[in-house]
Amino acid sequence: MRLSRYFMPILKENPKEAEIVSHRLMLRAGMIRQQSQGIYSWLPLGKRVLDKVNAIIRDEQNRAGAIELSMPTLQSAELWQESGRYDAYGKEMLRIKDRQDRPMLYGPTNEEMVTDIFRSSVKSYKDLPLNLYHIQLKFRDEIRPRFGTMRSREFMMKDAYSFDLTREGAEHSYNKMFAAYLRTFDRLGLRAIPMRADTGPIGGKLSHEFIILADTGESEVFCHKDFVDFDIPGAHTDFDSVEGLQAIFDKWTSLYAATSEMHDEAAFNAVPEGDRLSARGIEVGHIFYFGTKYSEPMGAKVQGPDGKEHFVHMGSYGIGPTRLVPAIIEASHDDNGIIWPASVAPFDIVVINMKAGDQACDDTCELIYAALTKAGKDVLYDDTDDRAGTKFATADLIGVPVQIIAGPRAVANGEVEVKDRKTGARQTMTIEAAINRFVA
Ligand code: ATP
Ligand code: MG
Repeated sequence: MRLSRYFMPILKENPKEAEIVSHRLMLRAGMIRQQSQGIYSWLPLGKRVLDKVNAIIRDEQNRAGAIELSMPTLQSAELWQESGRYDAYGKEMLRIKDRQDRPMLYGPTNEEMVTDIFRSSVKSYKDLPLNLYHIQLKFRDEIRPRFGTMRSREFMMKDAYSFDLTREGAEHSYNKMFAAYLRTFDRLGLRAIPMRADTGPIGGKLSHEFIILADTGESEVFCHKDFVDFDIPGAHTDFDSVEGLQAIFDKWTSLYAATSEMHDEAAFNAVPEGDRLSARGIEVGHIFYFGTKYSEPMGAKVQGPDGKEHFVHMGSYGIGPTRLVPAIIEASHDDNGIIWPASVAPFDIVVINMKAGDQACDDTCELIYAALTKAGKDVLYDDTDDRAGTKFATADLIGVPVQIIAGPRAVANGEVEVKDRKTGARQTMTIEAAINRFVA
């Protein structure tokens, strides 16, 4: 992508409305724009990151055996009257009427709708277990939308829903998502700690929130510090192994970890003082097992091996991609801007032409841009006629992991500089060496 033809509206000034660093940097880097309170557009740079986050989430959901579909954002109130939640949900739900005066709503979550899909076609235990997910916009009329897309009113969620014949089966499904979440957050460059959680308005029996430690987090959390170094389940984890997944769950729940709602002072004080971590955290994922809470009122049942009908045991599993993007920035930035983990960076490499219009600089940059693009890299080429200082500041701000800098003096020697955004280390090398370094 040539920057001169791209749309990346960088802000020079610090936006006054931004209270936390991720919000400030997302606005300054031209990733998002607020359209009305708690409702955002994702501008091209932000959209690239969001898409990469979603690709990793999707990959790990698929690995764990979940199946993607897509459900609508607008739902009929009838389904929610069946479950009893239409009245129970309160003001967070945006209620709408269509032209026939039929009550509709903008979905804050999808348990009812997916239960309806399930009951319309699954009749036998032989079709279980089943886990269906989508990545879709939600709307919750939050009392205090704030911190940009960290807590917005319209936001994206990956929500998965599992269906099993028995409680034991449902616990295995829960453990699959538990392990998939550990892997997902790790691939996003984050350390998320599962913490025992309150089951809230969705209601339920077993629930964990996945929390990233950050000073700007809205939750107060307490945990054993060893969680920071626990091993993440590997790519070859067998998601069909009941014992294997139970062992992962047992290990990751063996030490104290709870949010303030579930905090047990006495249990926490039993942790050796030097191992206690009390901090603030950002909730990036939340998983629930809630048994037959929806299947009973909505009549979602299957025939079991005993020939009888059984209400299915369900769970639901959410991750917030539009919250994850700022959470990643909270965890990875410096005074100059964002430092993207390679897995979600909007571009792999930025090529900086320090003197656009200078034939040797232009030729060198074009050569590098073409070679790296051909090798499948996402390359941003800063071909604008801005001053070199402005270009360096922009490249640091938008956090692309590698900068290849071509200035007249180095280019005259057939060389460029390669800068690592994270460490700031710079290395001069031949143009060929710079290309070969990133071409596998
Ligand atoms: P919170 O306590 O932060 O309001 P929640 O418990 O209401 O979250 P869930 O219903 O469990 O959230 O939703 C699953 C995930 O969706 C959350 O873990 C979070 O990542 C994301 N999410 C929820 N509400 C918002 C929001 N207002 N803005 C952005 N992401 C959100
Ligand atoms: Mg909420």
